[in-house]
Amino acid sequence: MVTQVFFSQDEEKFLEKFSSVIGNRLNGSVAIKLHMGEPGNNYFLKPAFVKKIVDILKNKGVEPFLFDSPVVYDSPRNSVNGYLTVVAKHGFTEDKIGCPVVVSDDYKEQKILVDDKEITFQVCKGLVEADGVLVLSHVKGHMCSGFGASIKNLGMGALTKETKGMIHAGGEPVYISGCTLCGLCSKNCPTDNIRYDKDKTFFKKILKQDDSKRPFFDKNWCCGCSNCAAVCPQKSIRPKMALFNDLLSAGALAALKNFKKSFFVNVAKDVTKLCDCMADPGPMLSSDVGYLMSEGIACVDKAAYDLVVKQMKKDVFKEANHISPLGHLTSFSKLSRSSLDYKIIRI
Ligand code: SF4
Ligand code: SF4
Repeated sequence: MVTQVFFSQDEEKFLEKFSSVIGNRLNGSVAIKLHMGEPGNNYFLKPAFVKKIVDILKNKGVEPFLFDSPVVYDSPRNSVNGYLTVVAKHGFTEDKIGCPVVVSDDYKEQKILVDDKEITFQVCKGLVEADGVLVLSHVKGHMCSGFGASIKNLGMGALTKETKGMIHAGGEPVYISGCTLCGLCSKNCPTDNIRYDKDKTFFKKILKQDDSKRPFFDKNWCCGCSNCAAVCPQKSIRPKMALFNDLLSAGALAALKNFKKSFFVNVAKDVTKLCDCMADPGPMLSSDVGYLMSEGIACVDKAAYDLVVKQMKKDVFKEANHISPLGHLTSFSKLSRSSLDYKIIRI
């Protein structure tokens, strides 16, 4: 059966439908997996909207709580206490939202096979131990995956700081051989991290070889997106562990394997170039599209992507970030053996 994705441009109509379907899908204690915003970024989902979701769940007899995990990069959100200070500043307090707000890095391990390698992901216990998880995601562009919504929200956000670091480091490039200096990797690197002109003296005198013409990954910083490896026509570059998109989708699958029940809501409004982790998320890529929900994580993401592209009449994600926005969706679909086919039900 084709997965249904409910869609409305109108918040009130969407919430009415959400209220009519959610009682049959989630019960007991429900973790709302939510990115609660990097300081400086103003486009994360707002407390007023989240409170409406919380109120609907409570009216259905569900006991919701907001949940997120600390980040790995340099930010006030990289510790539990630091993140709790940020969420309070952003208006996500029990007083204002009407349910507890939990930030935790406790975990349960889950192994997933990626490229025939068994990789251990640490999935946040707060999500695993709930009776169900509502994944509430802001749709936007992303530096490493081109596009981010529900899969990104779990594939990074449902995992511990240590696993987040492993995914980024695992996607970093290693040079193998055979570079023809076509320039594609450098052109498609989002951080302008690649150069080809390493000091020849080092190679000739120290290594006794002239290997100076090849990519070097040390100009700026590397976000581990693996895009250089993905675009190289000679396969001269490989990721340290696996492609970022494969690790991200495996992370989402590791989380889902441990959830008792799940449901997905994507909000395609304020669609910025970069994600909610960035203090400056860059320009808007699209006018507002609306609200989507589904039982299928890959389908709700594919539908959000399709609707934005249709509205803007071009792939604004690919154009902005030079990375295939469907890479992690396709990877998730393969890994989980699930289809990306969906049917939009307009509300
Ligand atoms: S894309 Fe591959 S062949 Fe082209 S410059 Fe980069 S490493 Fe060399
Ligand atoms: S992994 Fe991404 S950020 Fe790092 S060098 Fe390659 S393209 Fe640039």
